[in-house]
Amino acid sequence: MSIARNRLNPSRTTKASLPGSVHTPAEVVTLSHVSVDYEGIPALDDVSLTIYENDFVGIIGPNGGGKSTLLKVILGLVTPRKGEVQLWGQPLQKATQRIGYVPQHTSFDRDFPITVWNVVLMGRLSHRHMLHSYNASDKAKAMEALETVGIAELRKRPIGSLSGGQQQRAFIARALVHDTALLLLDEPMANVDSNAQDEFYSLLSRLRRQMAIMMVSHDLTAISVNVDKVACLNKTLYYHGSKEIPPSDIEAAYGCPVELLAHGMPHRVLRKHD
Ligand code: ADP
Ligand code: MG
Repeated sequence: MSIARNRLNPSRTTKASLPGSVHTPAEVVTLSHVSVDYEGIPALDDVSLTIYENDFVGIIGPNGGGKSTLLKVILGLVTPRKGEVQLWGQPLQKATQRIGYVPQHTSFDRDFPITVWNVVLMGRLSHRHMLHSYNASDKAKAMEALETVGIAELRKRPIGSLSGGQQQRAFIARALVHDTALLLLDEPMANVDSNAQDEFYSLLSRLRRQMAIMMVSHDLTAISVNVDKVACLNKTLYYHGSKEIPPSDIEAAYGCPVELLAHGMPHRVLRKHD
């Protein structure tokens, strides 16, 4: 078996498939018939989904459709009423440390008194007792993550002084500090101006070479161009493991005709299934 250099981190190595061999991607997340209620009101209904290594999956759907809830189920922050969640083929509790999470609505005031460096280091807290100081390995991981997202030179700045796009890079760096193999992003483009979005997507397409990414977004056009699989969620999940969603699925999820939603959306996303 040959060993290839990891392009994002040359000090790490990844196994490459033998020429001609068929590589079966490993399952990263497996949800089987998951239902979630909040105080008796259903938020997810019988959701089954498999995400494989190196998948870049966009999750679209109307407000209140359960997108954030789906990510929280994978993180173990919300417990399903029914169904099963596995990560890397194991029960959820054993593997959550390898998940990086960028929650919805993370942004800071200009005056928020914490540096980018400390925001990223905080990602290491789950690895240690709160009262212990960070060690050399924590600091090395934080630096490596900052370099990966391309903002190492901003590390001494207060997080609030960064642009929306730079702040999101800092939050992604924080999510990358523990050998992350699954990155969950909840509407990460909300505070990123359109100029910075292309760069942001190219960062994500580099990252997905070494991890699976699930990204919730409102922006159907950007999702359809930049991810390779799209799931549509409104309590029920519509997912075919590709980005060609039948219009009937989108209409069912959004409860309105596709023409209203598909403004500017590339045709291939809306192509009818044969
Ligand atoms: P989305 O991210 O797609 O907008 P959410 O997962 O945030 O949807 O919410 C799905 C539904 O669950 C909504 O109706 C929301 O009001 C409800 N909900 C979410 N979180 C809670 C909570 N902690 N307690 C009660 N209801 C909640
Ligand atoms: Mg949400």
